[in-house]
Amino acid sequence: MPIELVATEAKRQMEVRLSRRLHEVANQRIWFDERPGPIRVDVRFDDGGRVLIDLGPGLGKLSNTPDMEDLESLLINTFDLELADQVTHHGISFLFDGKDMYFYHPEERPPPPRQRARMRSWPRVVLSPGHGHYRLYGQKDSYSWVFQRTEQHGVQEDVITMEYARLLKEEMSQRPGMLTPRLTRLDWDLTHAETRKPWSYISARYYLAWEYPENPEIWHSLPEDKTKGRERLEDIRSRPLFANHIGADALVHLHTNAEPSGKVRGARAYHYKDSPESKKLADSLLCGLKEVIRAQPKYKDFQIDDESRNDGDYGENRLAAMPSALVELAFHSNEKDAAALLDENFKRAAVSGLTKGVQLYMDGEGCEPFVVTEVGQGSGYIHSNATMIFSYKGSPRPPVIFNFEEIGCNPSAAECMSQQDSRDIEPSPMIYYGLRCPGVPGVRKYRLTLIDRDGVASSPVEGEVNCKYSHY
Ligand SMILES: [Zn+2]
Repeated sequence: MPIELVATEAKRQMEVRLSRRLHEVANQRIWFDERPGPIRVDVRFDDGGRVLIDLGPGLGKLSNTPDMEDLESLLINTFDLELADQVTHHGISFLFDGKDMYFYHPEERPPPPRQRARMRSWPRVVLSPGHGHYRLYGQKDSYSWVFQRTEQHGVQEDVITMEYARLLKEEMSQRPGMLTPRLTRLDWDLTHAETRKPWSYISARYYLAWEYPENPEIWHSLPEDKTKGRERLEDIRSRPLFANHIGADALVHLHTNAEPSGKVRGARAYHYKDSPESKKLADSLLCGLKEVIRAQPKYKDFQIDDESRNDGDYGENRLAAMPSALVELAFHSNEKDAAALLDENFKRAAVSGLTKGVQLYMDGEGCEPFVVTEVGQGSGYIHSNATMIFSYKGSPRPPVIFNFEEIGCNPSAAECMSQQDSRDIEPSPMIYYGLRCPGVPGVRKYRLTLIDRDGVASSPVEGEVNCKYSHY
């Protein structure tokens, strides 16, 4: 039920219950080295159906820190778990004593959105694998290199995001009409001298510093910041700043999700709330993911959101001047989701689905499910090939398997029209030539199913072919 339809008193009770629960979750650990202490959480539904979570005035100054992004993400995931789909809302915003983060950090305001370069034939996509090793400062100027996430169920988010980015880069560069995407981290297995770790483990900030030494505004955007986690914050910021620098047409962040109960599952996407183009990109990515992942029998029920969310204030999206979407492929805090993330079939499907989502968005096309909408009566001569015409919707990836199965014929009598072949699919309506009429004349009924290269199948439709005697 939409939150707007909930009675005032019931809404009030929900606010109280959710405030208490989020307060409890937020205070299970200590956040913010700079200002450790109890965190106040106040949940309210505004008149427009948006959720406002107020964390009080003291954290306003820290509203742009990576710790805050983690705290917000924890509260968003807990909030959704608590509501358990009983009530829907229009997104979650965080406030600090009634004011948004720009009150405390006017410099964090997003750049004016650039319209998508329409009809650009070779769009430049930036892929940003989330997290990676960074320098965490301690006493004085001492520091240690650490991952940004902890490993759960065999998944180290900092590393697996790079694996997906590599596969995605390869997949996208093989598709017609697409340039090889740029990555915000180095995908080679060269050794990073300082850490003795592969470069692919290192976060974007250091790779971009190495690649663009003359442009510290990309990777050292907060020279005044003296906090211990300053380079992690610069890492987050460096991703959209790099995409802005090279004038990218789209930015896709790859992440895996986490949440303390271990119960929450599925794929989600996030966009910045004031960027409708980013929402279109993010929705298209989810749609592509859904179609291809669910086409795999093992993942036919895998949970994937229908629509991108605009909760929170992820700097990775906010600072981008182009459409930008953050994809959370699955929850590595859930055992089954983690196993999926590590499964080669899931990886392949996810990468193919994301490629499809980007491609459809770039082509300005909606993402529609693959269905055969109409089949005309076909005709042909016995012992020869018949022609039939059909219409379809969606964006199947060639080659497509055409599976004709005659209804009610006797296969052993060798007079069945059933056949299967694989060929390119032409724009709808398509004329199919090559359906074999057997030696016996008559109107034959068949069932047609199309299966594309990703395993995406249209639901079966029935049609007829009139097989006639030849003139000769
Ligand atoms: Zn992440």
